[in-house]
Amino acid sequence: MASGPLDTAGAHQEGDRTGIAGAPGTPGAYSIGKVAGIEISIHYTWLFAVALIAWSLAAGYYPADIPGLGVFTYWVIGIVSAVLLFASVLAHELMHSLVARTRGIRVDSITLFIFGGISNLASEPTAPGDEFFISVVGPISSFVLAAIFGMVAVALPQPGVAGAVAGYLAVVNLLLGIFNLIPGFPLDGGRVFRSLVWGVTGSLRRATLVASYSGQGFGWLLILGGLLRLLGGDIFGGLWIAFIGWFLNSAAESVRQDQSLDESLRGVAVSKLMDVSPGEATTNMSVQDFVFQEADLAAAIRVMGQKGLHQLPVVEDGGGDGAEGGHLRGLISREGVVRFLQCRQELRV
Ligand SMILES: [Zn+2]
Repeated sequence: MASGPLDTAGAHQEGDRTGIAGAPGTPGAYSIGKVAGIEISIHYTWLFAVALIAWSLAAGYYPADIPGLGVFTYWVIGIVSAVLLFASVLAHELMHSLVARTRGIRVDSITLFIFGGISNLASEPTAPGDEFFISVVGPISSFVLAAIFGMVAVALPQPGVAGAVAGYLAVVNLLLGIFNLIPGFPLDGGRVFRSLVWGVTGSLRRATLVASYSGQGFGWLLILGGLLRLLGGDIFGGLWIAFIGWFLNSAAESVRQDQSLDESLRGVAVSKLMDVSPGEATTNMSVQDFVFQEADLAAAIRVMGQKGLHQLPVVEDGGGDGAEGGHLRGLISREGVVRFLQCRQELRV
């Protein structure tokens, strides 16, 4: 498990894009409290990760590092180490979240799951500088933790249990920092890479494309490396690395699909698809959430995604402030947008 958990900081509307873990309310994620006003939740897959790490430490790593202790003692040290490893991941995620907040981005929650942690930001950064700082602070905090645990390990008597645990945490935080610097989206390094391409070219679209292909490339490399390790006899480590590669590859691909969806909906006015006889449904709706009829489908889908709505009132721009300034023209629904996309695909237009 030395390859360490994977983490991604990003916008996760409608739950997480990868479908593994996500925003509060995601099936399988349970809140354990708040830190600095940010909800911390644990996805049930996190328990498997703690159990696997504790087992690999209790059965292999610690008996070799500090021989002569009992089986029970090794298990206690293994479990404590696994929990401290995830506390380190949580500290890493908190740094992403706190920096995001100083840049004006709301943070809904942090979820810990089998590969590490996810910071659920309410929206994507709108400037390359914001994305750069929000992302780069993650690996930096892992390196700082590695240095602190390293100094503690040196200060403690060797060989000893506390010194061995501190030494393990120093190494694993160092590996976490290095792993997260891989320049493939959606890893921290991939986000740093995207922010640099974005800053240089001025195009978020092109930057996302480059960084997501790079993420897929590194995903395939990890899968290949994992399979080679598997063939070399390291079944557990090989499978784990291949699994992380698969996760990175599919996360990178879904980011690109999101973008191409956004592109195919952009420029199509919502008035083209709205239902002009909405009936009673509109009376139950909040007037805070609406789109102007001149807006495009990409904007409508974004609002529905952010607010978790299945339909939105479409309002004529009366020049006033918000929905009150205009007249209700109809309703736009997610189903309508899906039908539109299916139609388009079938007609290949
Ligand atoms: Zn991170």
